[in-house]
Amino acid sequence: MARYTDSVCRLCRREGLKLYLKGERCYSPKCSVDKRPFPPGQHGQGRHRTSEYGSQLREKQKARRYYGVLEKQFHSYYESAARKQGVTGENLLQLLESRLDNTVFRLGLAASRPEARQLVRHGHFLVNGRRVDIPSYLMKPGDRIGIREKSQQSPRIKELLESAQSRTIPAWLQLDLNAFNGQVVRLPARDEIDTPVAEQMIVEYYSR
Ligand code: SF4
Repeated sequence: MARYTDSVCRLCRREGLKLYLKGERCYSPKCSVDKRPFPPGQHGQGRHRTSEYGSQLREKQKARRYYGVLEKQFHSYYESAARKQGVTGENLLQLLESRLDNTVFRLGLAASRPEARQLVRHGHFLVNGRRVDIPSYLMKPGDRIGIREKSQQSPRIKELLESAQSRTIPAWLQLDLNAFNGQVVRLPARDEIDTPVAEQMIVEYYSR
């Protein structure tokens, strides 16, 4: 499966904000957005004028990169969101939040979304008791996430479980660290999603 393999810090610099793709490093002075707060490349420090289309494109790219989704899949999320009842932009964010890798990250069981994606790929998690290694698997209200028995002994998982104790879990999720168990209580409302994107501009981008 295709995936982005270049430097992820370039993506943050291109979008001009922290996308938190590297875990602990993102909170340290080593963060590239803090050290070089301008777009990457030869003309990064030049002057730029942004058209309406350009702004819409940037919002779409930002959301895509935030959740680590490639263009084709992102477009199909948009189409599903447009088919659903309600506000398309909010539906789109709900779909992105429901991904298994995002849910693992939101539960504090990974330091970043890319790490959550890798842990899911390596088969460390169970959904409703069955091993699921597909990061884009869409979680539904009532679904439970468990950690595979063997994985509970992994030093990295132990470390993550320890740091999860001090993480704030969003109200639409529940986590019982003693039972190695998390649950999606309901889908998140827009004001519970802190992703810094203007979803209406993404809808305008695809409605051109
Ligand atoms: Fe982005 Fe994190 Fe790299 Fe900073 S350290 S530029 S937030 S990925």
